[in-house]
Amino acid sequence: MLTINGAAGEGGGQILRTALSLSVLQRRPIRIENIRACRPKPGLMRQHLTCVKAAAQISAADVRGDVLGSTTLEFHPRALAPGHHHFAIGTAGSAMLVLQTVLPPLLRADAPSRITIEGGTHNPLAPSATFFEYAFLPRLREMGARVVFDCERVGLFPAGGGRVVMIVEPGELTPLALLARGERIGIRAQALIAGVPEHVALRELTHVADCFRLRREHLQHVDLGSRTGPGNVLSVIAEYRNVSEVATAFGQRGVPAEAVAQGACDEIQAYVDGTAPVGEHLSDQLLLPLWLAGEGEFQTASISGHLQTNADLINRFDGPRVAIRPDGNGHRVSVRASPG
Ligand code: ATP
Repeated sequence: MLTINGAAGEGGGQILRTALSLSVLQRRPIRIENIRACRPKPGLMRQHLTCVKAAAQISAADVRGDVLGSTTLEFHPRALAPGHHHFAIGTAGSAMLVLQTVLPPLLRADAPSRITIEGGTHNPLAPSATFFEYAFLPRLREMGARVVFDCERVGLFPAGGGRVVMIVEPGELTPLALLARGERIGIRAQALIAGVPEHVALRELTHVADCFRLRREHLQHVDLGSRTGPGNVLSVIAEYRNVSEVATAFGQRGVPAEAVAQGACDEIQAYVDGTAPVGEHLSDQLLLPLWLAGEGEFQTASISGHLQTNADLINRFDGPRVAIRPDGNGHRVSVRASPG
């Protein structure tokens, strides 16, 4: 059994999720200790527990320690079980992170799957459904993945109440080389509101439009009504020929809409001013797809804690190795078959 220290590097939920994905992929039993030791409330929160239950369900695993607050987990996967699966987090925890846990193994299954997850679709400190759709999925599809994604019901933090559905057709992934952005296609913005006055979305979009000189057709606002909420999320998307970056900002009571928008604008401006194609968040999320393909590489501006932690963890398992080295103004991340 492989023992993993959940306090290594970032010491957050990503160690648990990546370890679960790889354990299921390789049917390799794991024991994770010190789960989320570097977070203010260590141990399994609802989102993490749902990741464990979901990984267990798709791999007929025997599990010990799968209770809320647990800081140790033993996980013995048995056989991959594609098909129809439904997972409900029960809080506004990120549905996208649960999806990212089960997606890599299901891409390698011997039959298609349809996965439904209920929870938050737009959460702070997690990939939003918008990020997933514009930044992550296009890269995965370029690698040959046949996946259909539908954010059936948006669930904004902190209320949650969202539902995402993904259909996964298994198949081999081809390597990705993402070393240049290609020509710039444009910038656009989307403001989502639920139970929040419309002027909040309009002011955010006006601010983004002023920052980047955008026209009306580049701006979208969606009022989800007061069924869920209150919540407000602004996504600013910079599209290039080979890659897209998505910055996400969350409206907060007492913070002017313009200040919320400025945060996302600053993030996108910093990306636009650079040259590296892969942004901070996409960098750690691309590692498992590259690992599945057996090789690949990309350039990123800096090495985030999540990127380094994920690379170190992946290298604890058998299979392709992740290496990170300086490259021009940034770093080149490569995944290659392990020697021997
Ligand atoms: P915790 O930190 O409480 O353990 P967690 O389970 O969300 O929470 P992390 O280890 O912090 O675990 O992992 C967060 C993941 O979400 C990483 O893959 C990171 O790249 C991604 N992420 C964080 N913020 C964003 C963002 N704004 N856009 C896209 N992805 C994001």
